[in-house]
Amino acid sequence: MELRRIGVIGLGNMGFGMAASLKRAGFEVLGFDISPARRAMIEAEGIIFIEDQLALLRQVDAVVFSLPYAKDVEAVVTAEGGLLSRKDASVLVIDTSTSDPGTTRRLAAALAAAGHGLLDAPVSGGPSGAASGSLTMMIGGTEADVARAEKVLAAMSAKATHVGPSGAGNIAKLVNNLLVAAHLVTTGEALRLSAAAGLAPEAALKVVNAATGRSAISEVMVPRWVLPASFDSGFSAGLMRKDVRLAIELAEESGVALPLSQHVKQLWQEAGWLADQDDFTRMADYRDRKEMA
Ligand code: NAD
Repeated sequence: MELRRIGVIGLGNMGFGMAASLKRAGFEVLGFDISPARRAMIEAEGIIFIEDQLALLRQVDAVVFSLPYAKDVEAVVTAEGGLLSRKDASVLVIDTSTSDPGTTRRLAAALAAAGHGLLDAPVSGGPSGAASGSLTMMIGGTEADVARAEKVLAAMSAKATHVGPSGAGNIAKLVNNLLVAAHLVTTGEALRLSAAAGLAPEAALKVVNAATGRSAISEVMVPRWVLPASFDSGFSAGLMRKDVRLAIELAEESGVALPLSQHVKQLWQEAGWLADQDDFTRMADYRDRKEMA
């Protein structure tokens, strides 16, 4: 059955843009968020805001999640009177939240037993990528579900790669974000060194970006959000802390030792000057902080 009526659950920095991209692509879009404050924004995009999550889950062909934590995803999937008791159609869940592969596989199995599908489809590209439908998506799940979701994925992404079975998308995302977390620390430290040794960080960054120390952090994030001290990327330090924690938990479950990454996790967890609601790019702030003295 073609997927035409799409629900979006979690209309925050990312989910709002995804819902708008789906609407622009011609889907009928229904949105739900536990925060009623999101209602006016979503209705201004011509999207129907549903007050009752179960009412949404009972009428959609597919549902996109953009939720903070795996526990939120689990709560929506297992909500009594929701997806697991729906028998009239096979619903496809496209979970774009950054979540853990174990929870994803468990929920995919529960949904499959009820006749539904689940793709883990975490994303990279931030709120601007969500708003313009140009995210990078990394997808775990069956070939059949990926084929079924094709138009929905195309509406939200510039590149959607099917990386493997259920959970593989989450693994790819945690691998990516472990690198992002580390690069924010190392790039900030390198620029601190430059300033302390008497070379303006802007000048050092120019060289790094034309040489071998560069990364997406030095090429995109630092020029956009750190040098101008705008710190408004739309991704919170609290969610980044979650990603680093999930990556290290995955390493422990997988029996692999990652000593530097363990230390990166500790730096993120112990940075008392960086509140969960702060922008995550503050981690690369090279300016003097009295807390660091
Ligand atoms: P956000 O905090 O801006 O938005 C989350 C939204 O979910 C909020 O509006 C919140 O009210 C709502 N919500 C929470 N629990 C809910 C529930 N049980 N039912 C319905 N709504 C609920 O977060 P975000 O930045 O949009 O991130 C969403 C997900 O995408 C996270 O898993 C994050 O790690 C991931 N992600 C974010 C970015 C980014 O740049 N912001 C990039 C890639 C991936």
